[in-house]
Amino acid sequence: MLEVKRVTELSPSMRRITLTGEDLAGFHSASFDDHIKLFVPERAGAVPNLPTLGEKGLDFAGDGSRPEMRDYTPRRYDPQSNELDIDFVLQHAGPATEWATHAEPGHKLGIAGPRGSFVIPTGFDWHLLIGDETALPAIARRLEELPASTRAMVIIKTNSEQVRIALHGQCAVDVRWVTEPATPQDGPGALEAAVRELSLPEGEGFVWAAGEYSDIRAVRQYLSSELGVDKGRIRAASYWRQAQANSHEHFD
Ligand SMILES: Cc1cc2nc3c(=O)[nH]c(=O)nc-3n(C[C@H](O)[C@H](O)[C@H](O)COP(=O)(O)OP(=O)(O)OC[C@H]3O[C@@H](n4cnc5c(N)ncnc54)[C@H](O)[C@@H]3O)c2cc1C
Repeated sequence: MLEVKRVTELSPSMRRITLTGEDLAGFHSASFDDHIKLFVPERAGAVPNLPTLGEKGLDFAGDGSRPEMRDYTPRRYDPQSNELDIDFVLQHAGPATEWATHAEPGHKLGIAGPRGSFVIPTGFDWHLLIGDETALPAIARRLEELPASTRAMVIIKTNSEQVRIALHGQCAVDVRWVTEPATPQDGPGALEAAVRELSLPEGEGFVWAAGEYSDIRAVRQYLSSELGVDKGRIRAASYWRQAQANSHEHFD
């Protein structure tokens, strides 16, 4: 059980919630690709009923209620200050977003995990990172973790230019922001179209992609079937899906 320490507005559609609490001691996240499970209180300021891990999985004894659970990226953990940052995309309706929109210092949030980590070596010649705003926390973290000896190409799709945030890294970084038109167009979506314009550099590389289900499925399909990228060099996940709550899927 953690408590909100600080709230920082990163952009008109992204809020950083900094959490702390005794239960956070020893927290470890080995990969930017990790996620933690959030146990979301029924309303801002309420205390979620947290499960214990029983033989048959999660056991919600306590008052018997089952909080909504959603997956989020551990953006930064600082053991010195015992702080964990989570960056929430706002502006759609859902329990996690609703909670984050109204979060204030002192509010409670339950977390669990990460349960396991998919660690992608940093030593490739190049890294291609693709995603929408929900992937931005993972991409921003990855750029901060990559060594100066490599290079990264980043393609990020947002719904508006106003929500772009500064990204920092030691390696050579080429960031391409694309905006999805408000009205659907014929042909590939903005994310896939931007990936199709890219020329992959020489050398060994790895592609990481996360975002809305259809976007990521199309991007992965293009990369593996048309461009011939080895599927073992692509990590692609759906972080959310249109008209579906609490969706998480891996394409590999
Ligand atoms: C591994 C992993 C890591 C993730 N990391 C982050 C992160 O760091 N920050 C972050 O903000 N999100 C992240 N997400 C995405 C987040 O879990 C989903 O957006 C989640 O559905 C939000 O929960 P909710 O309760 O707000 O909405 P839900 O109740 O899940 O969904 C309600 C409705 O909103 C729609 N919806 C959900 N997400 C979006 C969206 N982004 N834009 C528009 N409509 C949406 C759904 O289709 C549904 O119709 C991550 C997801 C995964 C699987």
